[in-house]
Amino acid sequence: MPELPEVETIRKDLEGAIVGAIITDIWTDTPKMLSPSFKSVKAESVGKKIVAVKRRAKVLMIDLEGGKCLLIHLKLSGRILLRKPLTKEDIYTHIKIILKLKDGSPLEFRFCDLRKFGYVKLANDEELKKVREGLGPEPLDDLTLEYFQKTLAKSGKPVKTLLMDQEKFSGIGNIYANEAFFAAKVLPMRPAKSLSAEESEKLFNGVSKVIKEGLDNRGTTAKDDFYLDAFGRAGNNESNLKVYQKNGTDCLVCKGKIQRVNLGGRGTFFCPNCQH
Ligand SMILES: [Zn+2]
Repeated sequence: MPELPEVETIRKDLEGAIVGAIITDIWTDTPKMLSPSFKSVKAESVGKKIVAVKRRAKVLMIDLEGGKCLLIHLKLSGRILLRKPLTKEDIYTHIKIILKLKDGSPLEFRFCDLRKFGYVKLANDEELKKVREGLGPEPLDDLTLEYFQKTLAKSGKPVKTLLMDQEKFSGIGNIYANEAFFAAKVLPMRPAKSLSAEESEKLFNGVSKVIKEGLDNRGTTAKDDFYLDAFGRAGNNESNLKVYQKNGTDCLVCKGKIQRVNLGGRGTFFCPNCQH
């Protein structure tokens, strides 16, 4: 699933390519991915100019002239590919929605989604506010150490599960959570409130570090991952991963074996020697 660095990379690509373009048509073969309905999304979007591309957590926000906004979530397997019309469909892309754009030359904004959990949702200011309020503060933005430590101290949940709860903290998914715990030398299955102030500060710094690396490297395309940027290129961050999907391989620090457990339904990877 694309996380903060991946969605931000896509946002930057889109910002450079589609701001100023006009939506000339919308096509879909999966109307249930558009809400409140395909018809209303089409009626409110066609003919409108795109004035900004924003993001909060893993949600992309395409602002249209006149004040409405298209919220886009890629969920598990969504991709956005910008392509010239009539360009052959990329292999395995499963195009579900196309926004046809014109900004000088025509361009297609292809929303591809094998599993069809992603969505495009038309929102007004009030709905947008609700979405923003439902998401916790974000690393490298409004997430403070004070809030981070307070939130951990209040919860008996496994600390990794808490870290990935988008209402508490936004944008952190499974890849970067695993890497942040390794960077902080903390075991991800510990109850959140069992971390000392020193440990939770290390974890806070670990989160910032791995998210920043992910951003600098235009995201992570892991083996089981669908992530590509808006031009169809893989991310460059995979070589920075120390534990994610590395079970059975040697820890880069201590040469012990990386282990995998299931925590809250998610693959959780750690070094039992380096992390405590
Ligand atoms: Zn180790």
